[in-house]
Amino acid sequence: MNNRAIHLPHDDQDCGWYAALPAPAAPRRLTGRQQVDYAVIGAGFAGLAAARQLAEHVPDARIVLVDAQRVGYGASGRNSGFVIDLPHKMALEHPDPAHKQRLLGLNRSAIAQLQRLIGEHRIDCQWSHAGKYQGAVGARGLAYLEHFEHLMRELGEPFHSVEGDELANVLGTRHYRRAVYTPGSYLMQPAALVRGLADSLPGNVELLEESPIQGLQRDAQGQWLLQGRDGQIRTPRLLLGTSIFTQEFGYLRSRLLPVMTFASWTRPLTQAEMDAIGMQADWGLTPADHAGTTVRMTQDRRLMIRNTYKHVPRYGKSVSDSTRQEIRAGHRKALISRYPQLANVEFTHTWGGVYAISRNFTNFFGELEDGVYATACDNGVGAAWGTISGTLLADLAVGADSQSLSDIRNVTGMPSRNPPEPLLGLGVRTRIRLAAWNSRSEL
Ligand SMILES: Cc1cc2nc3c(=O)[nH]c(=O)nc-3n(C[C@H](O)[C@H](O)[C@H](O)COP(=O)(O)OP(=O)(O)OC[C@H]3O[C@@H](n4cnc5c(N)ncnc54)[C@H](O)[C@@H]3O)c2cc1C
Repeated sequence: MNNRAIHLPHDDQDCGWYAALPAPAAPRRLTGRQQVDYAVIGAGFAGLAAARQLAEHVPDARIVLVDAQRVGYGASGRNSGFVIDLPHKMALEHPDPAHKQRLLGLNRSAIAQLQRLIGEHRIDCQWSHAGKYQGAVGARGLAYLEHFEHLMRELGEPFHSVEGDELANVLGTRHYRRAVYTPGSYLMQPAALVRGLADSLPGNVELLEESPIQGLQRDAQGQWLLQGRDGQIRTPRLLLGTSIFTQEFGYLRSRLLPVMTFASWTRPLTQAEMDAIGMQADWGLTPADHAGTTVRMTQDRRLMIRNTYKHVPRYGKSVSDSTRQEIRAGHRKALISRYPQLANVEFTHTWGGVYAISRNFTNFFGELEDGVYATACDNGVGAAWGTISGTLLADLAVGADSQSLSDIRNVTGMPSRNPPEPLLGLGVRTRIRLAAWNSRSEL
């Protein structure tokens, strides 16, 4: 990459998870010229895990982890808070059972790692072994659920079908015809979790926030120069945990698709409101039909609604206020159709976040060129995947070997090339609109 203008992250300021946390301490920013042994760009799940693992491998090395924003401000702090063990929906369809078992194993080691860190560092992030409901509203959703059950049987994974009173007594609504409960997922407060992970980084990791990297070049000695606004980092080895922004450094160009999805939540409901509705706290439901609505009831009794996908070629910008209002109105409709008793409860926050998918649903993991490593494109389920792929990226960068490293190399590959614009945008927008229309009964 040369010093052309690049898209920098610019997430909106209305993320409920972030707003619910106390204000963070003042950030350390990149200034002056810094020579380091390893630089990691991106302090989401992937970059945080990579920096931590590097520090464990090379405790005497100088490691810098740098992010354009505050920790918790990017997608890793603004997602729905599911840490999912099962392979992603598309990966579940993979013809090779060993491929799916590898993904399952990798996701489960990420969960075990997060669980250990949360315990060791007492990270207060609503971490809970709550499992996950996958809910069907109508015939379309039910057909997806049946297919999902078939895939679970093939995989040999436990699941439990829930309907009628049993389901209504948890969710507090009879909106869903049926759900499938899988026990292996965890729930968390994403902004609290990533902040806790950042606060507990080993001593030889220096975290620099609000420090966008605007240029990347190689110098005559073969070292990488990361150009910031007020400083520069020089390093022989660079790890990218930058998700869709990896393209901005000249890598995986035209192979990643930037997608935004959105969430809104309410204030904490009172215990009286919960009792009147007949709803439990601390559960999460994803839609059987992926274009439907995700619902979460947090430990502190907020109801969160997530739906709507947008293809965002200008992913360094948040959406306009009018688009946000439209999306919020859609969230409101989804809330009231499930909980008409909450017609007077307004949303306090509506936010969006960007992540990368690929047309062949393949994740990239590996060395991009001499001394530059990346994990990118988790297809929207990056809490577990970012954690394990970031960890293993550090193993790769230091030359460590393990069964997990061999597994991740086996299940990752090259995201397929996108058609050129305007064909790409037209195609993706049409697919998203078609999926939204077909799935309107599941919203
Ligand atoms: C609303 C929503 C709901 C979601 N729900 C879930 C869910 O429930 N479970 C799940 O597993 N996944 C979910 N996802 C997806 C998940 O959030 C992402 O897959 C995951 O956060 C990706 O992690 P990452 O570390 O790879 O990237 P990111 O979290 O995107 O981190 C990349 C970081 O790079 C930084 N960066 C980029 N460019 C630069 C630069 N030039 N200089 C410095 N820093 C830079 C960014 O600021 C950012 O912090 C959801 C996403 C959204 C938006």
